[in-house]
Formats: sequence, structure tokens, C-alpha cells
Amino acid sequence: FFIAVEGGDGAGKSTQVEAVAEWIRGKGHEVVVTREPGATAVGKRLRSILLDVSSGGLSHRAEALLYAADRAEHVDTVVRPALERGAVVISDRYIDSSVAYQGAGRDLAPTEIARISRWATDGLVPHLTVLLDVTPEAARERFTEAPDRLESEPAEFHDRVRTGFLTLAAADPARYLVVDAAQEPEAVTTVIRHRLDEILPL
Ligand code: C5P
Repeated sequence: FFIAVEGGDGAGKSTQVEAVAEWIRGKGHEVVVTREPGATAVGKRLRSILLDVSSGGLSHRAEALLYAADRAEHVDTVVRPALERGAVVISDRYIDSSVAYQGAGRDLAPTEIARISRWATDGLVPHLTVLLDVTPEAARERFTEAPDRLESEPAEFHDRVRTGFLTLAAADPARYLVVDAAQEPEAVTTVIRHRLDEILPL
């Protein structure tokens, strides 16, 4: 069973991924918690290229392909093997992040970004995608470290990213859970648990 957790920077994804993983482990399942970009050895190197503030410009198509390369390696070496042995996999970001950031956020066609990711993953789609939705202004207040290259993008970029995520969720409500991430973390976890209670195989 494959769960992706998506949302803008500062939406609280890592907190929710950990809380939900603990809860599923408590039900006796093996849970693999993972993330993009940077879950593999190659991915860590790609992540540092992608997030380095001092790297200056990166062409938008090159950026899209580097995220796709990270994802291809991630799916091939971490996600699929875990799913094949029956584990529940929870990924902090997946294809929707590319469609929202490299598509809606930049000037590239979201459908083309989705197509590249489909190829990179050989068509692996999550059973559930949790979208933690929060305004970029509220999210920014949660930043604890110096902003990376993407977090330094202007507010309009992050507004487009948010709209990009919401558009994806609206197009496929059966596979998405949109949660108001401005709530207390415990309240967000409760909403996710309720949805998983309905769909997670016991
Ligand atoms: O979620 P995390 O902080 O690990 O993401 C690292 C950075 O990469 C974030 O600033 C996020 O905005 C950016 N990102 C991106 N496109 C993706 C995935 C992440 O711009 N496909």
C-alpha cells in the first residue's frame, strides 16, 4: 500500500508522515518512510544540486529532469521493493510535487511534467495522496532553518504551486485527501487516520 504526502514547504509533511507511520506500525504493518528528493545515494547528490542556493540558475527543463531522475532511482530501489514485500510505503513528496513545482510553479506544461514522471516511475501511482494544504504565508511562519533555493522563490511562485496541488486533488477526489494543514498537527493526523481506516487493508 503506497501513500504519498504532498504540500508546500512548511505544510508539516514530515511531522504527519512520522505520526501516520507510527500509527500504522501500531496496527502491525511494516512501514517504510521515505522522501523525495534524496532518499537514495544518487538522490542525495541530486538533492544537493537541486537545493543549493549558491548554484545560481538551473534551467527549468534540467531541473524537471533531475527531480525525475531522483524519482526513478527512488521508485526502483526503495519504493517498489518495499511494496513487493508487502510493506506500507509513505513518501514525503512524489509526482504531484513535480507537477506543482516544475509545472504550475515554473513555465512548463503540467501534463508534460506528469508524463515524464509516469515514465520515470513506470506508472507507479499511490493508493492515496494526502495533500496538506496551507497558505504560503502561514507556512512561512513555520520555517526553522535558512530557506533553500526553492523556499527563496517569491510568494507568487508558492501561490501557483498551491493552486497546482489543489487542481490535481480536485481532478481525482477518490485518490486524494485534502487536509487543512493550518490546524493543530494532532487534528491533521486524526483526519488522515480516519481516511486510512476506511481504505487500508488490515
Ligand atoms: O520537502 P523538502 O523540504 O525535502 O523539499 C526540498 C525542496 O525541494 C523544497 O524547497 C521544495 O520546494 C523543492 N521541491 C521542488 N520540486 C519537487 C520536490 C521538491 O521544487 N518536485
